[in-house]
Amino acid sequence: MEERRIYFPAFMRNVYPVIDFLLSSNNLEHIANPLKALKEFARVVKTGGIVFIIVPQKKDTFDHKREYTTFEHLVEDYVNNIEENDLSHLDEIIEKHDYIMDPECGGKKKFIERARKNIENRCLHHHVFDEECLKKALTFSGLKVRDFGDVRGNWFIVGEKGECT
Ligand SMILES: [Zn+2]
Repeated sequence: MEERRIYFPAFMRNVYPVIDFLLSSNNLEHIANPLKALKEFARVVKTGGIVFIIVPQKKDTFDHKREYTTFEHLVEDYVNNIEENDLSHLDEIIEKHDYIMDPECGGKKKFIERARKNIENRCLHHHVFDEECLKKALTFSGLKVRDFGDVRGNWFIVGEKGECT
């Protein structure tokens, strides 16, 4: 299968900064290079536009045994231009995934088979976000953090595009 290197459907590749509001819900954790994606989100919204991100809180998911991802790690992924076929977190995920909290995965063996084909199914949570990491990630991407909070087991964070993004 052809590698997927874009973050948006093909029709968005030529999108200029004309979007008022961009919603990314339970999506960022599936992206291997979140800062690259966030910078793209920031690019396509117009000045004063809003990027609204929702990610799961680890305490309520099968990620609860994993460590939080540091912002410094996201910067490394960005600087190294990590591609979406990256599986560098796979060993940690296999070790710490709570298979009981994820009955739909069909058990550890099936989970591993599916995870190795992540580029096709995008099931993996590459990273585990906390408040500090999310806030730094949005700021890095040229978005002013306007709100942050907790909604039904998820974090939400709202960024506004400033003048100079
Ligand atoms: Zn990573």
